[in-house]
Amino acid sequence: MVIRLVRRIAGTTAVCALGAALAACGSAQAPKSGSPAPARPAPTTKPAKPPTLPAGPGGAAPVFMNGPRTLGRTVALTFDADMTADQGPRAAAGEHFDNPALIATLRRLKVPATVFMTGRWADQYPDQARSLGRDPQFEVGNHSYSHYAFTGDCYGLPTVSADRMTSDVQRAYTALLRAGVPHPMPYFRFPGGCYDRQALRAVGRLGVTAVQWDVVSGDAFATDADAVTKQVLDGVKPGSVVVMHCTRSAAPTTEQVVRDVVPELRKRGFRFVKVSQLIGETPGHR
Ligand SMILES: [Zn+2]
Repeated sequence: MVIRLVRRIAGTTAVCALGAALAACGSAQAPKSGSPAPARPAPTTKPAKPPTLPAGPGGAAPVFMNGPRTLGRTVALTFDADMTADQGPRAAAGEHFDNPALIATLRRLKVPATVFMTGRWADQYPDQARSLGRDPQFEVGNHSYSHYAFTGDCYGLPTVSADRMTSDVQRAYTALLRAGVPHPMPYFRFPGGCYDRQALRAVGRLGVTAVQWDVVSGDAFATDADAVTKQVLDGVKPGSVVVMHCTRSAAPTTEQVVRDVVPELRKRGFRFVKVSQLIGETPGHR
């Protein structure tokens, strides 16, 4: 029900945001030199309902980790746009929680990708959020409002209390819509990937599918791009979901990793898809 509400809001917001979105499109991520930015078709109609998995017992959100292993060599690269509520002053002081060069590289290499965006990131970088949200090469999922953990003991992250979990995810959807992401996906990635039954029930109220991964790139705080590349290439199997980050300050090697990994995986016969495609190929999806 809430998702339907979000979609209705999305429809009205899209109209309001259209002018601003067109003006901003490509401005933040224009290639530094060389080929001009490719013309992207303006989204016209509302996309079909994204595939989701059925809820578990007690309305718990279903958890998706990877697509089918037997339907060909597809792989989904996912990029988490992390930002916590208290990092605003650091951004104001010049720290980069975005990564425009990475997005430009994904566009240049024509790699479809799924971005799990925190609401706080969308508030900080609305032009980039809007540009990603209106580009059919990408889909934008929800990564909470401010990257607080949904369980205790999750990589030292502050914790969101149980009674605020549902509203935190809603707050993130509101921020994504406000930034001009017209159709955020009903996919939620838990900060740190940490969840339990209580967390699944809380986000299940929103009808989302929780999206985990089966390949950890190890790009968070990495300084050796080759090691990250190796970890991705060693881990990817048909239907894999790879977790990476689009946050320069916390994942400085990721753009280089993408430049190395993409041609190599293509050489091995892999095709890049978005998470929605893998969910749509999963038996029992809706
Ligand atoms: Zn994250």
